[in-house]
Amino acid sequence: MKQRVSIVKCDDYDNDKLKESISKSIKLLGGIGRYIRKGSRVLLKPNLLSAKKPVDAVTTHPEFVRAVIAVVKEAGGIVSLGDSPSGLISNSKMKRIYRVTGMEEVCRETGTRIVSFEDDPVVYNNENGRVYKNFTMSGKLKEYDVIISLPKMKTHGLTLLTGAVKNNYGFIPGLRKAELHIILNESGLFSEMLLDVGETIRPALIITDAVVSMEGAGPGGGDPRNTGLIISGTNASVLDYIMARIMGYTNPLKVPTIKAAVERGLLMPERIEVLGIELKEAIEKDFKKISLIKLDLVPRFLKDFAKNLLSPKPIIIKSKCLKCGECITICPAKTIIRDSRQYPLIKYKDCIRCFCCMETCPHASIKTGTVIVLFNSKPSRFSKK
Ligand code: SF4
Ligand code: SF4
Repeated sequence: MKQRVSIVKCDDYDNDKLKESISKSIKLLGGIGRYIRKGSRVLLKPNLLSAKKPVDAVTTHPEFVRAVIAVVKEAGGIVSLGDSPSGLISNSKMKRIYRVTGMEEVCRETGTRIVSFEDDPVVYNNENGRVYKNFTMSGKLKEYDVIISLPKMKTHGLTLLTGAVKNNYGFIPGLRKAELHIILNESGLFSEMLLDVGETIRPALIITDAVVSMEGAGPGGGDPRNTGLIISGTNASVLDYIMARIMGYTNPLKVPTIKAAVERGLLMPERIEVLGIELKEAIEKDFKKISLIKLDLVPRFLKDFAKNLLSPKPIIIKSKCLKCGECITICPAKTIIRDSRQYPLIKYKDCIRCFCCMETCPHASIKTGTVIVLFNSKPSRFSKK
């Protein structure tokens, strides 16, 4: 059986263009009627990582969401929207995220109900899970007939890219996300867990905002890149495979979640059928990707040292830091302290490279780079973006 994905061009966030392009991308997959009937309760799950403006390309663009809402309503669906962002979730933090990302305005203007994923914990089982066979998530997810995932195409320091597979991580409530980072302190295991989440709560349809994507130091501090695309499908791993190709990976299996999906049989690259424009037309030249250091050839006794020395790390940009302390609160390894001037200071020895601090920082004051750690905590820096 073919594994289908549609790629449609859309140059900007003009509402009419978005609606037309999103409808076209769904039509290529069989049409909206295949997923939504009159009266279907539909939950939209955008990427609302943190309180960043739409122009930063960290979160799914509000106009993209507005256009999806219109398409779903035209098909007779009753729409709600929700996500569990990174970090400790409070009511005031959630309100700020919805306001700054532009999502509050869109929901208000379209009469879309906002759903919290933090309440009503229920255990969801998945016998096929490799790392976890169950997850505790909000019971509210059960109230919906259809879940539509709306990821943003971005780079990611831990998993190389964040797209459809990683967007499912937002179904996990609050700080449990950070806890899983510390328990699964390795990109392979973490990727297997992400696939387990996606197998437990599987969106029926995925529509990716790749109109403006993020390159460089993603997922929170990279640069917006106009890629002008909408990528849709029903299999999150297939979509990520196509996103990796668009970012310029000739071998997408370098991405740990994609490699794990192929090994599980969830993704069969030879069966992918691209509808809409041809993949070669969509591939971005010189897209700034993230490299993971390959440690296979390093002797085992030197691996920790080499990993600490060579792999990308979060770096605090003091000139932008407002000393709010959110990075300190979220760090699952508890390896960020305050220095004598109250700035956060990362003790790299215990840093697990989860990049939760970077995802959470509301002021884009953390970037990725290479820091050579000479003695325990005081870093001497040779950073590159
Ligand atoms: S310092 Fe940042 S990247 Fe390192 S463990 Fe803490 S949150 Fe994760
Ligand atoms: S780095 Fe960011 S999150 Fe951490 S204290 Fe500074 S502004 Fe706050």
